[in-house]
Amino acid sequence: MKIADFHQRLADLGAKPRHIGRIDRAWLQGWPLDTGTRHQQAQDFLPLSVRAAMPQLSETLDGLVRLRSEHPAADGSARLLVELGDGQMVESVLLPRGGLCVSSQVGCAVGCVFCMTGKSGLLRQLGSAEIVTQVALARRFRPVKKVVFMGMGEPAHNLDNVLEAIDLLGGAGGIGHKNLVFSTVGDPRVFERLPQERVKPALALSLHSTDAELRHRLLPRAPRIDPQELVERGETYARQTGYPIQYQWTLLEGINDSLEEMDGILRLLKGKYAVMNLIPYNSLEADEYRRPGGERIVELVRYLHSRGVLTKVRNSAGQDIDGGCGQLRARATQVEKI
Ligand code: SF4
Repeated sequence: MKIADFHQRLADLGAKPRHIGRIDRAWLQGWPLDTGTRHQQAQDFLPLSVRAAMPQLSETLDGLVRLRSEHPAADGSARLLVELGDGQMVESVLLPRGGLCVSSQVGCAVGCVFCMTGKSGLLRQLGSAEIVTQVALARRFRPVKKVVFMGMGEPAHNLDNVLEAIDLLGGAGGIGHKNLVFSTVGDPRVFERLPQERVKPALALSLHSTDAELRHRLLPRAPRIDPQELVERGETYARQTGYPIQYQWTLLEGINDSLEEMDGILRLLKGKYAVMNLIPYNSLEADEYRRPGGERIVELVRYLHSRGVLTKVRNSAGQDIDGGCGQLRARATQVEKI
């Protein structure tokens, strides 16, 4: 379901924009719409026809996403395995300090070689209402002040739904616009659409290599945009919005952790309004990819940082509980097949 469909249903029942705004705020806070006392007063302001339909509307929204299981990790994060209305599953991740990582697709068509989600291909898009309901669900556990679109899926491949979700989260959802982070492998449509939006999110760009050929091998179905052009387009958006670009770099031992690659990063990012996030790969048993050792990671961070590129190490949240994107869902799906 799209948010616009839900709003239309309310309007057909006689709700005015101010009523719809109240209902959205209650929905996105994770409050039950039909019972409870906290928003009872707000309900009293609604037209009778809307109040009468509330139990049914509430049931519809509750059926969009359901918590299948929760997996708390030692680092304070928790992965939520979320079941959609048709039985498909996605992951949301509660991050420390009020962050939430949400999914925008079931599966993904980009097929990054190091990503479990990419292995299944694209199964289906999430509707905008399914995307924002992940936030409402998470808020039943803890406050959410930041939402990153870095879960399952390439947000640029579901652009209308993701932008509709961002618009609502940055409005009735009460999330600061720079705390909404749109993550992409660099689809050119993103650079055309985002600057036109009322709510302009921050942007994370998955770089992973400065060598165009290697990048194509790692991200086989990402648009073939040259890394230099990607950075230039990112820089334009960063200057328009006033938020730095977050560059994502999954560190794979022996593949993209060489000093030549680090020099490539310096060449592209020095002087740019950017943060480089090095994400050591979350290795699985019997995996063809490995993360570099701890000392090597520190060496790389120092190398970049001391030469003028702000660099951080970001570990996948919850590494003790299948922390890589899609690993939890893959395991749950395997268990179901046994
Ligand atoms: Fe898709 Fe992101 Fe996984 Fe790449 S890393 S396959 S873009 S979900």
